[in-house]
Amino acid sequence: MANILLVDDRPENLLALEGVLEPLGQSLLSAHCGEDALRQLLQHDVAVILLDVQMPGLDGFETASLIKQRERTRHIPIIFLSAISKDETQIFRGYSAGAVDYVVKPFSPDVLRSKVSVFIELHDKNEQLRRQTELLKEQELAELRVESEERYRFLAEAQPDQIWTAQPNGALDYVNQRVLDYSATSFGELVESGWTTVVHPDDLPRMLERWRHALATSQPYENELRFRRAADDSYRWHLTRALPMTNRRGDVVRWFGSNTDIHDQKRAEEAQRFLVEAGAVLGTSLDYRSTLAAVAKLAVPRIADWARVDVVDGEELRTVAVEHVNPRKVELALELGRRYPENPDAEQGPPRVLRTGEGELVPEITEERLTELAVDDLHLGLVRELGLQSYMCVPLSAHDRVVGVISLVCAESGRRYGSEDLALAEELARRAGIAVENAQLYREVEERAQAARVLETIGDGVFLVDDEGVVKLWNRAAEAITGLPRENVIGRRAEQVLPSWESVSPRIRVAHAPGPASPETLPLELEGRERWVSVSGVGFDEGTVYAFRDITEARVLEQIRQDLVATVSHELRTPLAAIYGSAVTLVREDLDLDEALNRKLLSVIVEEAERLGRIVNDLLLASRLGAGRLEVQVGSCDALALTEGVVEAARTHLPEDVTVEFESAPDDVPPVAADAEQLKQVLENLLDNAVKYSPTGGDVRVRLETAAGVVRFAIADEGLGIPRREQDRIFEKFSRLDPDMTRGIGGTGLGLYIARELVRRVNGRIWVEPKDGKGSTFYVEVPAVTARETRPKAHQEAPVAP
Ligand code: ADP
Repeated sequence: MANILLVDDRPENLLALEGVLEPLGQSLLSAHCGEDALRQLLQHDVAVILLDVQMPGLDGFETASLIKQRERTRHIPIIFLSAISKDETQIFRGYSAGAVDYVVKPFSPDVLRSKVSVFIELHDKNEQLRRQTELLKEQELAELRVESEERYRFLAEAQPDQIWTAQPNGALDYVNQRVLDYSATSFGELVESGWTTVVHPDDLPRMLERWRHALATSQPYENELRFRRAADDSYRWHLTRALPMTNRRGDVVRWFGSNTDIHDQKRAEEAQRFLVEAGAVLGTSLDYRSTLAAVAKLAVPRIADWARVDVVDGEELRTVAVEHVNPRKVELALELGRRYPENPDAEQGPPRVLRTGEGELVPEITEERLTELAVDDLHLGLVRELGLQSYMCVPLSAHDRVVGVISLVCAESGRRYGSEDLALAEELARRAGIAVENAQLYREVEERAQAARVLETIGDGVFLVDDEGVVKLWNRAAEAITGLPRENVIGRRAEQVLPSWESVSPRIRVAHAPGPASPETLPLELEGRERWVSVSGVGFDEGTVYAFRDITEARVLEQIRQDLVATVSHELRTPLAAIYGSAVTLVREDLDLDEALNRKLLSVIVEEAERLGRIVNDLLLASRLGAGRLEVQVGSCDALALTEGVVEAARTHLPEDVTVEFESAPDDVPPVAADAEQLKQVLENLLDNAVKYSPTGGDVRVRLETAAGVVRFAIADEGLGIPRREQDRIFEKFSRLDPDMTRGIGGTGLGLYIARELVRRVNGRIWVEPKDGKGSTFYVEVPAVTARETRPKAHQEAPVAP
């Protein structure tokens, strides 16, 4: 039904028009003015307009021209209705305003109806034509759509990648043939399972989570997933991407996705990363066992479910590291190795790899193969328990020698090894081999450095003379003993360095293997002084190593010891002889000895026995001092009383021509911090010596002096005196100025040594000074007791440095 718009300002006219046109059976719209007509035209699609010319406001012509100006209404036919304008100008104006007809009232209803129906018909025709055109366009579009769909599908089929599309809700609606071929599934199955049957189970949660997120946010989707390849039943890494296609409103109408195989690239990257990590780990250990254990640890689970490292030990292979994804199976694997050691002649496995130095790859361990390799039922059982699926074994080389093998096995993971895995394992083994080599080198260098350090720190002189007789090594002790710095020695011939070398070296015994040496004691002339050295040599390919030690001091000591033995024996023999002589005389019955002689002989026995006792006491005391085992009881001693007592006692047994006097002491001698008994022994000894070494008589004078914090005892004699250069030596153990007793004065050479040691232990000092004129003066200085220190204290003395 078409719309006819009737425009007239008079309702009765409108009514009349409606009456006239009613029979046409169309929809009649009426407007009572120009503005109203324009409004109606905005809302309705109108087939023809009947427009009154005379209207208040916009008249018919003005309304018509506005209608004609509008794009949407310009084509609508207008029939003017006018009661008055019959003249031509009016009519002409009507046509120029766009009228198709001009009807003058009063009009014949039939004529008007037929005119209107012509336009209605025209309108209907136009409508029909428009609809047909639209239909045609739609059809064409649909065809176009089909064609473009086909085109992109064709494109999709031509791609090497897997291509797919999905509905906005994520449901698959197309996959290319590659997808179906790759997974050996039908499109139906794939739609139903939504990839879940072809993606690796471990990757499924990630896939679902990301896909849901993409669908919810209409954001592009991207993921890395493993897809099962039906051809070899392996899982391969793919990069999956999908982009949403949206309409003009921004709603997703379709997802376009692709899965690209990135397996090889990913494995290469992983392998590279793995090797880099391996390098870092292998570099951290310098112990080859830890290095190999690290290799096994690295391999599991990254490239194997379990790994074993065996090294050559003599004729056999010994397992040094086993690692398993399942720690409980480590024991099982070890057990297998223990029970069934590798047969060195085996045609496959580690022994063969060891022999040939070539890696071995078994991509698929079939049941038949297992049975074939099993030694017995138990073996088969153990191997089955380990669930071996795929295996490879690579040689571990160090210093161009195969030193072991690395075995890698896939079990639980279901992985299968391929040639690229073998290459990776070989590279790992190569790097491990280098690490083992480095560890060994490092150890050797370290050992050498240590040996060099030892050589530098040992007390024995060590030097190396090469085949040409040139000194190649000269350690620090050699420098110290000989006083010859290394730079003056190395590179020179031995005889240039050591003048007596030529005469001495033939006497040195040179062993041909290190072992117990039999050193030779020889004199070496060094810078004008003679040193005694004990030398031994060991010859080797490039020369001879000599070790020597300075035994000059030891020789001197040895001399002293020999002297001592002579002295002490003499010292002991004299009183013993006197005791023996007296006793023998006393027991003789044929002699009638008078009372006086009897007593004289007995007192000789007593005195000589006492002398023997003193000598033995001195020896014991000296040895205890030397061993640092003498206890010192430091207390406050009255120096004056002590000195007086000692002087008094000495006076009782003086030779005729010797006198002993206590010469002087200050008024207020403070007490001294010392062990009273020991201090007394020191003073007695000095006084005894003063008397003893005044063989031609003389006066012995004793003085007490005080100085800052000390009390000094001075014992001066007029006896034999002591040469200045011997001032220190006489305090050494067993040292005597006249060891051969040319003057007939005996002694052990221990008295002054004991005195010095005792004085040192109370922080005092002892020394001797020659006296102007004749004899010498011995001084002993002991700390005075300060007010705070009057309490005695016991002290277990520590060994004192000489
Ligand atoms: P001994 O007297 O038993 O030999 P000492 O250790 O007491 O041992 O003395 C060491 C040496 O010092 C003595 O052998 C002696 O040569 C020398 N000597 C010690 N006291 C004197 C002294 N007053 N006058 C001269 N020589 C002394």
